[in-house]
Amino acid sequence: MVSHKKFTIATVGSHSALQILKGAKDEGFKTIAICLKGREKPYKSYNVADEIITIDSYKDLMDVQPYLLKKNAIFIPHASLIEYLGLEKVEKFQIPYYGNKKILKYESDRRIERKWLRKAGLKVPKIFENPKDIDRPVIVKFHGAKGGKGYFLAKTERDFKQKMKPHHGDGDYVIQEYIVGVPMFIHYFHSPLNNELEVMGFDKRYESNVDSLGRISARDQIALPKVDPSYVIVGNVPIVVRESFLPKIFEMGENVVKESRGMTTRGLWGPFCLETIMTPEQEIIVFEISARIVAGTNPYVDGSPYTALRYKEPMSTGRRIAREIKQAIKKNQLKKILG
Ligand code: AMP
Repeated sequence: MVSHKKFTIATVGSHSALQILKGAKDEGFKTIAICLKGREKPYKSYNVADEIITIDSYKDLMDVQPYLLKKNAIFIPHASLIEYLGLEKVEKFQIPYYGNKKILKYESDRRIERKWLRKAGLKVPKIFENPKDIDRPVIVKFHGAKGGKGYFLAKTERDFKQKMKPHHGDGDYVIQEYIVGVPMFIHYFHSPLNNELEVMGFDKRYESNVDSLGRISARDQIALPKVDPSYVIVGNVPIVVRESFLPKIFEMGENVVKESRGMTTRGLWGPFCLETIMTPEQEIIVFEISARIVAGTNPYVDGSPYTALRYKEPMSTGRRIAREIKQAIKKNQLKKILG
């Protein structure tokens, strides 16, 4: 039997790499962090990487491939990899890749993603194809907007047109119904080895400036020169959900996995996240899916209240990935989890 100790877990030093690398070490793997020059410090200081490879730009990642192959590396993707390298290059990446690459294009296209979620029976915000139809509060999102910068709220067509003016020429946006409620990001993990879905935890994002607008009274907001909400993520806050929501939350995740198998060969597995707003009517509206590890799992390096229920040891999502790889190696089923 091949020992998992012969393998190395590699990832890009950003996003959730600390958690991924620590989890891999806890499971007995060797680890490599690939860092942009000047960004190595956290990976050294927290001692999560057996080796640090420094690159000048993310496109140099392609040149590191022969070395990673020699090291028997398995690559763990996260949002930074996809953002910096681009979908096309990720698809061409030669290193054994944890997860299904084919699913990436489904989650990166808002329209396809929406179809997927609806087919899975989930509630999604209404989309307004034509600004003339705006009859309620909407959030206007620009594709590729860095962390929600530039998004705006509008409530009528006139309001929309006014606020669109600075975005002249920026055609790639979506007008989505604004759901009033609280954001809840649900972290799942699906294992194709035992065909089981786990709920790993929950978070909400800490977004600047929208999460601090409540600290400025409405009177002062009007008096200030210009306070438009923005949704730039600066951190994540852990949450425990009301327990009676859990059966529904499991069902939603299971349906998403089931539906993904009709879309692409082998569908979705590994970590993923449903990004939702929970309303006072106790509805869970899903505005996005991330088909990979999300940074919202970072508060749980030492496990979440939910993984504490299921595992005897601290189980982060990063460690859960490493354990999955370890089990796949042991069962000679690596092919089942690489994509
Ligand atoms: P996104 O770029 O789609 O992840 O959205 C950024 C942030 O905007 C989210 O974290 C939410 O706080 C907020 N948001 C996005 N879509 C909606 C929506 N349909 N209704 C209410 N808030 C939303």
